[in-house]
Amino acid sequence: MPGKPLVNLVFIGHVDHGKSTLVGRTLFESGVVSETVMKKLEEESAKVGKEHAKFAWVMDRLKDERESDQTTDVSYRFFETKTRAFTIIDAPGHRDFVKNMITGTSQADAAVLVVSAAPGQFEAGMKASAIDKSEIGGQTREHAALAFTMGIKQVIVAINKMDTVEYSQERYQEIKQAITSVLQRVGFSGIEHFLFIPIAAYYGENISKPSTKMPWYEGSTLLEALDTLQEAEKPVDISLRIPVQRTFNVPGIGLLPVGRVETGIIKVGDEVVISPSGARGRVKSMEIFHRALDKAETGDNIGISIKGLKKEDIWKGCVIGSVDNPPTVTKRFNGKIVVMEHPIGIRPGYRPVLFCHTEQAECCIEELVSKIDPKTGGTIVNHPDLLAKGDAGIITISTEKPIVIEKVNYMPRLSRFALRDMGTTVAVGMCTDIL
Ligand code: GDP
Repeated sequence: MPGKPLVNLVFIGHVDHGKSTLVGRTLFESGVVSETVMKKLEEESAKVGKEHAKFAWVMDRLKDERESDQTTDVSYRFFETKTRAFTIIDAPGHRDFVKNMITGTSQADAAVLVVSAAPGQFEAGMKASAIDKSEIGGQTREHAALAFTMGIKQVIVAINKMDTVEYSQERYQEIKQAITSVLQRVGFSGIEHFLFIPIAAYYGENISKPSTKMPWYEGSTLLEALDTLQEAEKPVDISLRIPVQRTFNVPGIGLLPVGRVETGIIKVGDEVVISPSGARGRVKSMEIFHRALDKAETGDNIGISIKGLKKEDIWKGCVIGSVDNPPTVTKRFNGKIVVMEHPIGIRPGYRPVLFCHTEQAECCIEELVSKIDPKTGGTIVNHPDLLAKGDAGIITISTEKPIVIEKVNYMPRLSRFALRDMGTTVAVGMCTDIL
């Protein structure tokens, strides 16, 4: 797709609101999935009485393909509109979605927030949980907050399942208003420029063609809306950073670490450093999908053979960097976080697991520095006792082992982290200071 700006897209929203269906439908209508494949999925799903899932299966199908591909954990799919190319990040229904969204497998430039208009369903997505006493809650708000925290500035709101409310303009208006207020509350600005589109993903209404069922709607279709999204700003700092996803032992090549170039450029012959181990070596050869490569840049998923590298020098979570500006290694840092989910809230002494790029480390919350207003960043209170679900704050984190992490204003891509405990994402954040 030469020439077209590339946008990384994430689909967010409450469970069952139709994210997978919309992704499948979009891939179909933009021509990635052929009529033949679609027909086959339709037959297969009908056979087991699950025709309603035929579009959602498009993504599952791709997932199966991915699982047989050993070289990368990154899950996405490309499609194009008239003027843009897109990478879809596999968010729908994925258990590790929240973690993936933060830890480098996905760096979305824009989000499609899918909100079901179906009676009861929209309300469920907006429901406040038992812990969060505010009148908005559910995954609709949670995902919107997450998107904002992760620095996504462009959101398209797809109001789905309009068929279940007889394509009612009143229902659309009601939801548009409620979602506008959610987006405002979690901190988004410029919402008047966000596009709200009434759709029926399953039936293909307002996806690539204007719907005849909603003559009252004069705005763009989903594909037209996607065409208005801007691509990511290229990282200003070009120092090399490649978080190691895994290492292989390849006959004839030897040790082959694999990862995605997050920033910078790497060429055969370059001297690189591996942090935190501190090992150094020259790049002997590189490959991308089994093809040899002289040079790789931001976004490329590559395997790199480094002269003299031993097994104990490199592991998942290490970062390959430039020798003149090596990755930052620390065991203590400050982070700005938002608490996503915790039954009682975060206190000093709490020990969750930290996920950052491909790294994973036991950690301890040493101190709650302040509670802040997520919108303005202003301090509400210094040294609070507790940060509860929905709260934002600055905290000091120490890790059991040295890890690579960068400050957000220096390298945002390597500053993001998630705190997880017992399989749920407790908080997400970004590193603001190395201590
Ligand atoms: P996800 O959990 O957000 O990914 O939701 P899915 O895409 O799996 O959809 C959940 C259910 O909603 C499925 O049974 C879909 O067939 C159904 N669904 C999706 N889009 C529409 C729609 O436009 N209209 C109706 N009536 N049902 C839909």
